[in-house]
Amino acid sequence: MRHIIIFHDSLIARWFLPKSYSAIMLFGMVFTRYSKLDDVCINHEWWHTRQYKDIFSVCLMLTILATTIAGACDFYPLWWAAGGVLLSAVAYYIWYGVEYLVHYLKLKNHSKAYHAISFEKQAYALENDFLSEYKHFSWINYE
Ligand SMILES: [Zn+2]
Repeated sequence: MRHIIIFHDSLIARWFLPKSYSAIMLFGMVFTRYSKLDDVCINHEWWHTRQYKDIFSVCLMLTILATTIAGACDFYPLWWAAGGVLLSAVAYYIWYGVEYLVHYLKLKNHSKAYHAISFEKQAYALENDFLSEYKHFSWINYE
């Protein structure tokens, strides 16, 4: 079994997640309205946590690099660093949203657009695969 942080009986999931979805991955943690999730669902969310960590860590490294260079050039507004960290935390969702929007404009159907998102394509394709190691940025191959 893959290890992920799961919040069961979550109010966040009850308030913000449509009834047709059982769980949501937010900032590397999983929130569900249910008191138990099946192994396939947990594995599906595990792939999402790995995808999230890819994008978060690259954005965070770019933030550190940019603030280091800005600091060395004596040009260092603190909100740049704070904004970079915040952007790193939400970059996955921006990418996810943009992909959804592009697919939705093309397909004119929510379900088809949702299943066309590369993150979802990978998670659905591999949700029954409990053994494979995650390869960084492998979701790019699911375009
Ligand atoms: Zn998913």
